[in-house]
Amino acid sequence: MRENLVKPDDRVILEFEDGSSFIVQVQDTTLGTHKGVIDLGNLIGKPYGSKCESRNGNHFRIMRPRFVDEIFKMNRRTQIVYPKDIGYILLMLDIKEGDLVIDAGIGSGAMCAALARCVGPSGKVFAYEKREDFKNLAQSNLSKWGLLERVVIKLKDIKEGFDEIVDAIFLDVPDPWNYIQNCYNALIGSGNIGIVCPTTNQVQMVLAELEKYGFVGVEVWESLFRQYKPVHERLRPFDRMVAHTAFMIFARKVSEF
Ligand code: SAH
Repeated sequence: MRENLVKPDDRVILEFEDGSSFIVQVQDTTLGTHKGVIDLGNLIGKPYGSKCESRNGNHFRIMRPRFVDEIFKMNRRTQIVYPKDIGYILLMLDIKEGDLVIDAGIGSGAMCAALARCVGPSGKVFAYEKREDFKNLAQSNLSKWGLLERVVIKLKDIKEGFDEIVDAIFLDVPDPWNYIQNCYNALIGSGNIGIVCPTTNQVQMVLAELEKYGFVGVEVWESLFRQYKPVHERLRPFDRMVAHTAFMIFARKVSEF
């Protein structure tokens, strides 16, 4: 049977009945919460999914954090790519085991981590970032998630160009149209590029540049996600939704144009 007990140093998510939750690494210390103090050492040996109590009797459940939980709770000092967009971007860029991928700029590292999970131990993500503070933040996030070995982080402005030839490029910078030529040079023939921008003006500028370099299969997307309250007698959407994150542009390189 699959081993399912909490071990020392495991990352766990502790979920209280009021919907609040905490991601922590299990060590012989305590965690102070608004629902009472939790003795983390006591979690060792408990089965995942089981119910426990804080010192003042509030119940919580011990679960394995999903990657999406990590993203919603991650340390961030930049905008990040939203989970609803990340999944589609991974598919449209066709990211798979063994791929070489460029991610620029790394920001807080959300998209970079998603790429690193998909390329597996035999692939690599080359992540570019011009600010040292963001590079360090992303590095610490990736290290927490055990993904640092799959990523080469470069403190470099992408206006200087890229150092690799890769299967796919993901671009998340304020002025992506300025780097389409550098992306063209760094992509293999038939390689995929994905760009996110929050405004339509930026999309227009990017489209003009993609055309200039003969990219094919150009698509512009926006994903609208509406969550429902999971109450069987009164099934209806939540009152509020995230109305806009970013437009996603995808295209493919052809060598002859
Ligand atoms: N995709 C990231 C967020 C990127 S935020 C995530 O999911 O976490 C945009 C980042 O691009 C910022 O960190 C910014 O410093 C960096 N950046 C902007 N222009 C750049 C350039 N010319 N070269 C390298 N990095 C750049």
